[in-house]
Amino acid sequence: MKDDTMTRPAVLILLGPPGAGKGTQARMLEEEFGLVQLSTGDLLRAAVAAGTDAGKQAKAVMEAGGLVSDDIVLAILRDRMADPDTAKGVILDGFPRTAGQAEALDGLLAQSGMKVTSVISMEVDDQAMIARVAGRYTCAGCGEGYHDDFKQPATAGVCDKCGGTAFKRRADDNAETAGARLAAYHAQTAPLIAYYEARGVLQRIDAMAGIDTVASSLSAIVGRLSAQ
Ligand code: AMP
Repeated sequence: MKDDTMTRPAVLILLGPPGAGKGTQARMLEEEFGLVQLSTGDLLRAAVAAGTDAGKQAKAVMEAGGLVSDDIVLAILRDRMADPDTAKGVILDGFPRTAGQAEALDGLLAQSGMKVTSVISMEVDDQAMIARVAGRYTCAGCGEGYHDDFKQPATAGVCDKCGGTAFKRRADDNAETAGARLAAYHAQTAPLIAYYEARGVLQRIDAMAGIDTVASSLSAIVGRLSAQ
């Protein structure tokens, strides 16, 4: 039987601990391949900022570095997946994070005749992750990511991308909370590597390399998928 996976919109999952570079890389893939980045962390932060019921329930858990309940995360993702732009194909960044979310994702995609195309495990070293997370910040205007040690704007205090001069740091990007987030990753999310490997859709990349090197590896993988 003909495999029609690639005639459907691509559903890519970036798996990896906090600080692996999922968000940075998802934004680059979004631009290059016209896919839509879906970050449950971003959706939850927006819900917290808007003061919705879901946001109120999620806030304390996020500040402590734990995982928000599957019910809340799934409701938020389901709403976003209903937007027409996601029909172009999506890059899931920070989702799924539990076995329950992975199973629910299959059900959600099946409703629109889609399935997970490819899962890329971004492999990194735990200690380096804490340092990466603790130094990062973004442009308040366009969301471009920066880091105290690894990626400063070319002109200090001015965003390379949009020229904005206001920057922000996430409340949970500190060494203590990063440790809790890493522990949650190992306990609940890392088992998904074996889950997707058994389904034959997993690829691993070394995400300890620089941003551009990791971007080239990812671009080659996604480019091959698009050409299939
Ligand atoms: P992130 O931006 O992906 O690092 O997510 C920030 C925080 O949002 C996490 O530490 C969790 O508290 C919460 N979060 C994001 N995505 C999920 C998810 N798929 N499941 C549970 N909690 C999540």
